[in-house]
Amino acid sequence: MTDAEFKVKRFDPAGNKSWIDTYTVPVEKGMTVLEGLWYIMQHLDGSLSFRYSCRGAVCGSCAMMINGTITLACKTQIADLLPGKIKIEPIPRFKVLKDLVVDMELFLEKYRSLKPYMKNDFSGKETLQSPAERQEIALSSTCILCASCHSSCPFTGFDPDYLGPATLTAAHRFTFDSRNEQSLAVLSDINQTKGALGCKTISRCTDTCPREIEPSKRIKDLKNLIKEKSYKGEI
Ligand code: SF4
Repeated sequence: MTDAEFKVKRFDPAGNKSWIDTYTVPVEKGMTVLEGLWYIMQHLDGSLSFRYSCRGAVCGSCAMMINGTITLACKTQIADLLPGKIKIEPIPRFKVLKDLVVDMELFLEKYRSLKPYMKNDFSGKETLQSPAERQEIALSSTCILCASCHSSCPFTGFDPDYLGPATLTAAHRFTFDSRNEQSLAVLSDINQTKGALGCKTISRCTDTCPREIEPSKRIKDLKNLIKEKSYKGEI
Protein backbone atom coordinates (compact mmCIF):
# COMPACT_ATOMS: atom_id res chain seq x y z
CA MET A 1 0.00 0.00 0.00
CA THR A 2 1.16 3.52 -0.79
CA ASP A 3 -0.15 7.00 0.03
CA ALA A 4 -1.54 9.56 -2.39
CA GLU A 5 -1.78 13.26 -1.71
CA PHE A 6 -5.15 14.64 -2.78
CA LYS A 7 -5.39 18.41 -3.23
CA VAL A 8 -9.09 19.20 -3.46
CA LYS A 9 -10.57 22.56 -4.40
CA ARG A 10 -13.23 23.48 -1.88
CA PHE A 11 -16.01 26.06 -2.10
CA ASP A 12 -18.27 27.23 0.69
CA PRO A 13 -21.38 28.97 -0.66
CA ALA A 14 -22.19 30.36 2.80
CA GLY A 15 -19.00 32.39 2.98
CA ASN A 16 -18.55 32.54 -0.83
CA LYS A 17 -14.94 31.48 -0.41
CA SER A 18 -12.79 28.85 -2.04
CA TRP A 19 -9.57 27.20 -0.92
CA ILE A 20 -7.52 24.02 -1.41
CA ASP A 21 -7.47 21.23 1.19
CA THR A 22 -4.79 18.55 1.22
CA TYR A 23 -5.54 14.98 2.30
CA THR A 24 -3.40 11.85 2.50
CA VAL A 25 -5.20 8.78 1.18
CA PRO A 26 -3.90 5.21 1.61
CA VAL A 27 -4.15 3.62 -1.82
CA GLU A 28 -5.02 -0.01 -2.42
CA LYS A 29 -4.61 -1.81 -5.74
CA GLY A 30 -7.40 -0.91 -8.16
CA MET A 31 -8.58 2.11 -6.17
CA THR A 32 -10.24 4.88 -8.18
CA VAL A 33 -10.22 8.62 -7.57
CA LEU A 34 -13.89 8.34 -6.58
CA GLU A 35 -12.95 5.77 -3.93
CA GLY A 36 -10.22 8.15 -2.75
CA LEU A 37 -12.85 10.87 -2.30
CA TRP A 38 -15.03 8.43 -0.35
CA TYR A 39 -12.10 7.66 1.91
CA ILE A 40 -11.68 11.38 2.58
CA MET A 41 -15.40 11.84 3.25
CA GLN A 42 -15.66 8.80 5.53
CA HIS A 43 -12.38 9.06 7.44
CA LEU A 44 -10.89 12.54 7.14
CA ASP A 45 -13.47 15.22 6.36
CA GLY A 46 -17.21 14.56 6.28
CA SER A 47 -17.89 18.05 4.95
CA LEU A 48 -16.47 17.29 1.49
CA SER A 49 -19.21 17.32 -1.17
CA PHE A 50 -19.14 15.53 -4.52
CA ARG A 51 -21.61 13.70 -6.74
CA TYR A 52 -21.61 10.04 -7.64
CA SER A 53 -24.07 7.24 -8.19
CA CYS A 54 -23.26 4.14 -10.25
CA ARG A 55 -19.46 3.83 -9.74
CA GLY A 56 -19.26 2.19 -13.18
CA ALA A 57 -19.08 5.07 -15.74
CA VAL A 58 -22.75 4.72 -16.58
CA CYS A 59 -24.57 7.46 -14.65
CA GLY A 60 -22.28 10.36 -15.59
CA SER A 61 -22.52 11.97 -12.13
CA CYS A 62 -18.86 12.12 -11.09
CA ALA A 63 -17.33 14.25 -13.86
CA MET A 64 -14.62 16.48 -12.41
CA MET A 65 -11.26 17.97 -13.33
CA ILE A 66 -8.45 15.66 -12.25
CA ASN A 67 -4.92 16.96 -12.73
CA GLY A 68 -6.25 19.37 -15.36
CA THR A 69 -8.21 16.76 -17.30
CA ILE A 70 -12.01 16.63 -17.29
CA THR A 71 -13.00 13.02 -16.73
CA LEU A 72 -15.02 10.62 -14.57
CA ALA A 73 -13.61 10.02 -11.09
CA CYS A 74 -14.99 6.46 -11.06
CA LYS A 75 -13.07 5.63 -14.24
CA THR A 76 -9.73 7.06 -13.13
CA GLN A 77 -7.25 4.80 -11.37
CA ILE A 78 -5.21 6.53 -8.67
CA ALA A 79 -2.20 4.37 -9.59
CA ASP A 80 -2.16 5.95 -13.05
CA LEU A 81 -1.67 9.39 -11.47
CA LEU A 82 1.19 8.43 -9.16
CA PRO A 83 3.80 9.49 -8.29
CA GLY A 84 2.76 13.07 -7.71
CA LYS A 85 -0.12 15.02 -6.24
CA ILE A 86 -3.69 14.51 -7.37
CA LYS A 87 -5.36 17.87 -7.94
CA ILE A 88 -9.15 17.76 -8.04
CA GLU A 89 -11.42 20.62 -9.09
CA PRO A 90 -15.04 20.95 -10.22
CA ILE A 91 -15.71 20.92 -13.97
CA PRO A 92 -15.25 24.39 -15.51
CA ARG A 93 -17.94 26.63 -17.08
CA PHE A 94 -20.50 25.57 -14.49
CA LYS A 95 -21.57 27.46 -11.38
CA VAL A 96 -20.17 25.70 -8.32
CA LEU A 97 -22.74 24.93 -5.63
CA LYS A 98 -20.36 23.37 -3.09
CA ASP A 99 -16.87 21.89 -3.40
CA LEU A 100 -17.03 19.59 -6.48
CA VAL A 101 -20.80 19.84 -6.97
CA VAL A 102 -21.88 22.09 -9.86
CA ASP A 103 -25.27 23.41 -10.92
CA MET A 104 -26.43 21.31 -13.91
CA GLU A 105 -29.73 23.13 -14.40
CA LEU A 106 -28.79 25.33 -17.41
CA PHE A 107 -27.11 22.35 -19.07
CA LEU A 108 -30.21 20.18 -18.56
CA GLU A 109 -32.48 23.02 -19.69
CA LYS A 110 -30.66 23.04 -23.03
CA TYR A 111 -30.97 19.27 -23.27
CA ARG A 112 -34.68 19.39 -22.47
CA SER A 113 -35.22 22.18 -25.04
CA LEU A 114 -34.39 19.62 -27.72
CA LYS A 115 -37.35 17.47 -26.60
CA PRO A 116 -35.07 14.44 -26.54
CA TYR A 117 -37.50 11.61 -27.02
CA MET A 118 -38.91 9.53 -29.85
CA LYS A 119 -41.94 10.90 -31.67
CA ASN A 120 -43.56 8.00 -33.42
CA ASP A 121 -47.05 6.62 -33.79
CA PHE A 122 -46.09 3.11 -32.78
CA SER A 123 -49.78 2.02 -32.88
CA GLY A 124 -48.98 -1.08 -30.87
CA LYS A 125 -46.77 -2.60 -33.56
CA GLU A 126 -43.07 -3.36 -33.61
CA THR A 127 -40.82 -0.72 -35.16
CA LEU A 128 -38.00 -2.70 -36.65
CA GLN A 129 -34.52 -1.37 -37.21
CA SER A 130 -31.86 -3.01 -39.36
CA PRO A 131 -28.32 -3.54 -37.99
CA ALA A 132 -27.11 -0.82 -40.39
CA GLU A 133 -29.73 1.63 -39.12
CA ARG A 134 -28.82 0.81 -35.53
CA GLN A 135 -25.18 1.41 -36.35
CA GLU A 136 -26.00 5.02 -37.32
CA ILE A 137 -26.74 5.81 -33.67
CA ALA A 138 -24.43 3.25 -32.06
CA LEU A 139 -22.27 5.96 -30.49
CA SER A 140 -24.62 8.89 -29.95
CA SER A 141 -27.16 6.71 -28.14
CA THR A 142 -24.61 5.84 -25.44
CA CYS A 143 -24.23 9.38 -24.08
CA ILE A 144 -24.48 9.44 -20.27
CA LEU A 145 -24.97 13.23 -19.97
CA CYS A 146 -21.86 13.62 -17.85
CA ALA A 147 -21.34 17.15 -19.29
CA SER A 148 -17.59 16.61 -19.70
CA CYS A 149 -17.81 17.69 -23.33
CA HIS A 150 -19.95 20.72 -22.50
CA SER A 151 -17.50 21.90 -19.86
CA SER A 152 -14.49 21.41 -22.13
CA CYS A 153 -15.97 23.32 -25.10
CA PRO A 154 -14.73 26.95 -25.27
CA PHE A 155 -17.88 28.07 -27.08
CA THR A 156 -20.25 27.04 -24.32
CA GLY A 157 -18.34 29.65 -22.30
CA PHE A 158 -18.34 32.36 -25.01
CA ASP A 159 -21.98 31.99 -26.04
CA PRO A 160 -24.41 31.17 -23.22
CA ASP A 161 -27.09 30.27 -25.80
CA TYR A 162 -24.97 27.68 -27.63
CA LEU A 163 -26.55 24.28 -27.02
CA GLY A 164 -23.18 22.57 -26.71
CA PRO A 165 -21.85 19.16 -27.72
CA ALA A 166 -23.90 17.00 -25.36
CA THR A 167 -27.26 18.37 -26.53
CA LEU A 168 -26.07 18.17 -30.14
CA THR A 169 -25.04 14.56 -29.57
CA ALA A 170 -28.63 13.92 -28.44
CA ALA A 171 -29.80 15.75 -31.57
CA HIS A 172 -27.71 13.32 -33.60
CA ARG A 173 -29.28 10.37 -31.84
CA PHE A 174 -32.85 11.58 -32.49
CA THR A 175 -32.13 12.76 -36.05
CA PHE A 176 -30.39 9.62 -37.25
CA ASP A 177 -32.67 7.16 -35.47
CA SER A 178 -34.68 5.52 -38.26
CA ARG A 179 -37.63 5.00 -35.88
CA ASN A 180 -38.13 8.70 -35.17
CA GLU A 181 -40.84 10.11 -37.44
CA GLN A 182 -39.97 13.66 -36.32
CA SER A 183 -36.25 13.53 -37.08
CA LEU A 184 -36.43 16.43 -39.55
CA ALA A 185 -38.07 18.58 -36.86
CA VAL A 186 -35.06 17.92 -34.61
CA LEU A 187 -32.72 18.82 -37.49
CA SER A 188 -34.64 22.06 -38.14
CA ASP A 189 -34.37 23.01 -34.48
CA ILE A 190 -30.59 22.83 -34.48
CA ASN A 191 -30.15 24.50 -37.90
CA GLN A 192 -29.01 27.73 -36.29
CA THR A 193 -25.92 29.32 -34.77
CA LYS A 194 -26.86 28.30 -31.25
CA GLY A 195 -27.18 24.76 -32.64
CA ALA A 196 -24.94 22.71 -34.92
CA LEU A 197 -23.84 25.76 -36.92
CA GLY A 198 -22.27 27.24 -33.78
CA CYS A 199 -19.74 24.42 -33.52
CA LYS A 200 -16.26 25.55 -34.62
CA THR A 201 -14.87 22.00 -34.63
CA ILE A 202 -12.20 22.63 -32.02
CA SER A 203 -12.97 19.05 -30.92
CA ARG A 204 -12.08 19.34 -27.25
CA CYS A 205 -15.37 17.50 -26.69
CA THR A 206 -14.01 14.54 -28.62
CA ASP A 207 -10.76 14.57 -26.64
CA THR A 208 -12.73 14.66 -23.38
CA CYS A 209 -15.70 12.31 -23.83
CA PRO A 210 -15.23 9.29 -21.51
CA ARG A 211 -17.53 7.19 -23.72
CA GLU A 212 -15.51 7.92 -26.88
CA ILE A 213 -18.61 9.14 -28.66
CA GLU A 214 -16.58 11.74 -30.59
CA PRO A 215 -19.23 14.49 -30.34
CA SER A 216 -17.48 16.75 -32.88
CA LYS A 217 -17.86 14.03 -35.53
CA ARG A 218 -21.52 13.60 -34.61
CA ILE A 219 -22.00 17.38 -35.03
CA LYS A 220 -20.24 17.20 -38.40
CA ASP A 221 -22.74 14.48 -39.45
CA LEU A 222 -25.55 16.86 -38.46
CA LYS A 223 -24.04 19.77 -40.41
CA ASN A 224 -23.72 17.60 -43.52
CA LEU A 225 -27.32 16.43 -43.19
CA ILE A 226 -28.49 20.04 -42.70
CA LYS A 227 -26.74 20.98 -45.96
CA GLU A 228 -28.31 18.06 -47.83
CA LYS A 229 -31.84 18.57 -46.49
CA SER A 230 -31.67 22.36 -46.98
CA TYR A 231 -30.58 21.86 -50.59
CA LYS A 232 -33.53 19.55 -51.16
CA GLY A 233 -35.87 22.02 -49.45
CA GLU A 234 -36.85 19.45 -46.81
CA ILE A 235 -36.03 21.69 -43.85
FE1 SF4 B 1 -20.43 12.93 -21.55
FE2 SF4 B 1 -19.60 12.13 -24.00
FE3 SF4 B 1 -22.23 12.49 -23.52
FE4 SF4 B 1 -20.60 14.59 -23.69
S1 SF4 B 1 -21.09 13.14 -25.34
S2 SF4 B 1 -22.17 14.29 -22.14
S3 SF4 B 1 -18.72 13.81 -22.75
S4 SF4 B 1 -20.86 10.97 -22.56
